[in-house]
Amino acid sequence: MSRPELDETHDPALACWVESANHPATDFPIQNLPFGRFRRGPGLDWRIGVAIGDQVLDLEAAGLIGHQDMHRLMAGTAAARRALRLALSRGLRDGSAERGRFAEAMLAQREVELGLPCTIGDYTDFYTGIHHATTVGQLFRPDNPLLPNYKWVPIGYHGRSSSIIASGQPFHRPRAQLVAAGAAAPVLAPTARLDYELELGIFIGRGNALGEPVPVAEGEDHVFGVGLLNDWSARDVQAWEYQPLGPFLAKNFATTLSPWIVTLEALAPFRAPFERPAGDPQPLPYLDAPAVREAGMVDITLEVWLQTAAMREAGRPAERLSASNFRDAYWAIAQLVAHHSVNGCNLGSGDLFGSGTISGPGPGQAGSLLELSRGGRQPLALANGETRAFLEDGDSVILRAHCERPGARRIGFGDCAGTVLAARS
Ligand code: CA
Repeated sequence: MSRPELDETHDPALACWVESANHPATDFPIQNLPFGRFRRGPGLDWRIGVAIGDQVLDLEAAGLIGHQDMHRLMAGTAAARRALRLALSRGLRDGSAERGRFAEAMLAQREVELGLPCTIGDYTDFYTGIHHATTVGQLFRPDNPLLPNYKWVPIGYHGRSSSIIASGQPFHRPRAQLVAAGAAAPVLAPTARLDYELELGIFIGRGNALGEPVPVAEGEDHVFGVGLLNDWSARDVQAWEYQPLGPFLAKNFATTLSPWIVTLEALAPFRAPFERPAGDPQPLPYLDAPAVREAGMVDITLEVWLQTAAMREAGRPAERLSASNFRDAYWAIAQLVAHHSVNGCNLGSGDLFGSGTISGPGPGQAGSLLELSRGGRQPLALANGETRAFLEDGDSVILRAHCERPGARRIGFGDCAGTVLAARS
């Protein structure tokens, strides 16, 4: 596996001539360089940019690419990606000879619209959060929380890409068929148990041909990078419809994606070994490789923040509900690629995987309200006196993530935000 190695672009001592990129709390220092798409106004074409501090660099205007096709950029070779990252890093460093040319291609992020980072092809949602799977399993099946296939198969389902929306875009509380508590028959109604799911989004770069599985040792060669994904979920709809074929209308009304793709190259300093707890089965050979065991996982802190309408009106900032870590996923990214393609299924540039809800083992580490409120029975107390079992109209949920480790510069992902509007009447 040609896992990205550390090079001069990861040097924590690098400083950027964009002053905001040197702020210790920025998500986008010169060591990050995530890719996304922006436009200067409605109706204009999306352009490829790189986040740096509070700015975005227009890659074509800077002379670094000659097209606006994100899929083409994502499908490029690892060598081409490394060369582009190096050119960006050198051009943005203090004292760079490229500063004049780059400065003319720089726009303030607050003055542009950030869209989906690429057109999303097929979307698959996995279920790699074992703590989430166990807790939710207990709520739905108290006697049988974790089904016997879980520790052998990276569980997933085919999702819907048409309703994947950009961060910041609100959506209406969905209506669907559900059975209200204590009722004997279903009704068509707005969901009363609207939830979020804290997930990592994984973007396929180079595809594979139909019939040609990707070996696990080459899995990451097909991944461009990762972002944040909120798999909004209607729990009452889900409980009624999910058997026997899995999620359907409980999940496909909206899925929010963050604007920036943090590349595997940027994540190189934050890798972690893949390990199984004692007593758990080891992966089948097609999911096992030395490189996965050595450093298949990534240390990414994931957070959920909530700002209710009352908080917004009172000028109160969002409140953090939970934090977890992508290290706690049960399967590595390379294993998801290998498993998805083992039967010959073809993946394409711009395909998206959801990791599944990433919850940690401890209290305050759950990636959904369903878990935090114990199925709605124990509403969360918020600092302003409000409580939440599930989301209410006007609630904004913001997912955030960052990587931090001694000897490396902290990098972040940018916000993945969405607001719940009242159901359409
Ligand atoms: Ca999910």
